[in-house]
Amino acid sequence: MTDSNLTNVLDAMGGKQFPGGCVDCDAFQEVIPVEAGVWSLAIFHDDDCPALARMERGK
Ligand SMILES: [Zn+2]
Repeated sequence: MTDSNLTNVLDAMGGKQFPGGCVDCDAFQEVIPVEAGVWSLAIFHDDDCPALARMERGK
């Protein structure tokens, strides 16, 4: 896959949510366009996710 193909895929995924991203809960992920050519992948955990609790404690 070339970089431009990856860009097109990410463009198509921008703002979409899809399941996964955490082995400990039914988390979903969202591709958030930051600026042209830059995306951020956000993971949304369940409120009672143990992995999320571990991360919060690690702050
Ligand atoms: Zn989780």
